[in-house]
Amino acid sequence: MTDATKSFFAQQAWVNGTWARDVLLGVNVNGVWSGVQAGASEVERRGAVVLPGPVLPGLVNAHSHAFQRAIVGLTERRGGAVGTASDDFWSWRDRMYTAALRIAPAQLETIATLLYTELRQSGYTQVCEFHYLHNAPSGQPYADPLEMSLALARAAQRAGMGLTLLPTLYMRSGFDAAGLRGDQRRFASSPTSIARLVEGLQAQVRDMPWVNVGVAMHSLRAADEGAIAEIAAFANESGLPVHIHIAEQTQEVQDCISHTGLRPIEWLLTKMPVNANWNLVHATHTTPAELQGVAYAGASIIICPSTEANLGDGVFDYSGFAKRGGRWSIGSDSHVTRSWSEELRLLEYSQRLALRQRNVAAQAGEHLSTAAALFEGALAGGHAATAQPLGGIQVGHRADFMVLDSNAPALLGMPADHVLDAQLFSSPDAKPLAVYLAGQAHNLAQWPAQAQNYAQVMRDLWSEL
Ligand code: ZN
Repeated sequence: MTDATKSFFAQQAWVNGTWARDVLLGVNVNGVWSGVQAGASEVERRGAVVLPGPVLPGLVNAHSHAFQRAIVGLTERRGGAVGTASDDFWSWRDRMYTAALRIAPAQLETIATLLYTELRQSGYTQVCEFHYLHNAPSGQPYADPLEMSLALARAAQRAGMGLTLLPTLYMRSGFDAAGLRGDQRRFASSPTSIARLVEGLQAQVRDMPWVNVGVAMHSLRAADEGAIAEIAAFANESGLPVHIHIAEQTQEVQDCISHTGLRPIEWLLTKMPVNANWNLVHATHTTPAELQGVAYAGASIIICPSTEANLGDGVFDYSGFAKRGGRWSIGSDSHVTRSWSEELRLLEYSQRLALRQRNVAAQAGEHLSTAAALFEGALAGGHAATAQPLGGIQVGHRADFMVLDSNAPALLGMPADHVLDAQLFSSPDAKPLAVYLAGQAHNLAQWPAQAQNYAQVMRDLWSEL
């Protein structure tokens, strides 16, 4: 570990899909792993900082709309008369737009600062922000078109969170619409404005550690073929990660079929140069052929289990995708939970309920442990979602990790080999003792002020409720 500027010692650490014992970990000056040595002797580990619990790599949260944190807990009451079944994704979306129309840049910064701090405390170390709240509430562009994006970047810096900003194309309200609805005016954008946002941000975030830029298209319903092709070409030329919501709702699938004759993923694979830079968010309603096509193209799927459950989207065909060797990651999307353990637990439980089987993720892959299969799966998609060297405790990757608390009730007395199983399947989660990004521990000194500011923004936004 010649170029290590810092070294850590862990009695157990998650390396290459399994628990390694007595692990000496070196971090170089760039915050990157420079050495990972299991079975380190007492002499070798001398001088290393001893980590006080089992060590897991940090995870990427591959799908976030930070402003939606401000409506968590405010959309859990029925909207219509008893028995009218009027509450679904679309009625939730109307309420979400109320928040989208109100939030000012400073409020977004406060909300995102609290959210990103929560995510970091859970063990996420990078978040992909799928960002379409571009314009002022009037619908006019801000004097500085980067206003809202930079609010998110500052929030990430303040919270100590890695950020992949994804300026998002949003042009119309549906397949047959000429433009946006009035309540979507803040999202208005074009391939040209998105390319300018990307380039402007790339210049602005150059000096912000752990912030980078990709690009997104909201969905097939939100942009026409020509515009999607322009963004796809721009992304592929620049090697940017590209994200798109797809096949989340059955209505969207039906609309796509009636307008194009093809299902959404089928359309995307037929019409666009989908490759390993592409990340398909949700992909809830698919055929085996579509999943085969995604895996064949080398693209990833971003599964958002808690949001998909909260919105009543449906159940992702995990077995079908995993059996085809598909790559995936997780996202907390609307942020009804900020816990990665809960996301992975929900993902497995949705499969068990649908298939009436147990240990579904383990059956679909090479791992004996369901938790190991889920954790390794979520890790594997992190690089594709961010284009950052993220994906586990291995030389060359960023030194992001969490230290679990063996004294947390969920982990008390657990045999070492079952710690990850208990972390996922014994709720409430064991909260990590510490979460490191690029070899640096998280500083929570600002948390009380952040919480107070957030509470004030919530009161300002929702005073009439
Ligand atoms: Zn989303």
